[in-house]
Amino acid sequence: MTDCLFCKIVSGEVPAKVVRESARTVAFRDINPQAPTHVLVIPREHHSTVAELAAADADVLAEVLREAHQVAVDEGIAESGYRVVFNTGPQAGQTVFHVHAHVLGGRGLNWPPG
Ligand code: 5GP
Repeated sequence: MTDCLFCKIVSGEVPAKVVRESARTVAFRDINPQAPTHVLVIPREHHSTVAELAAADADVLAEVLREAHQVAVDEGIAESGYRVVFNTGPQAGQTVFHVHAHVLGGRGLNWPPG
């Protein structure tokens, strides 16, 4: 999709601090981190929300989740605990409509979220 920020990160048109890549996903650091580890894992192909991705290609969604866990392993937070979040829709705080898993950790995380 030509006008999508995260598609531009996939293509390299917009720079990002990439931490992992797989055949169908890219993981990069969030520009405005909310925790010591805050990485976004996205499919290379454009899908707006996790619901759309689940309906279109459940294998890629599984790859996004495997990569999210591998980010946690690489960052040394898999044992202490981490959170994977898909904000879905405006009221949940989704601002970029290219599905992304937030991987957050490295500090105590409150529940319920704000
Ligand atoms: P959402 O609010 O859609 O769940 O999450 C979008 C995330 O993308 C936010 O945490 C925001 O900080 C991050 N973000 C927005 N623009 C950029 C950018 O240009 N580069 C990177 N690396 N992250 C971005």
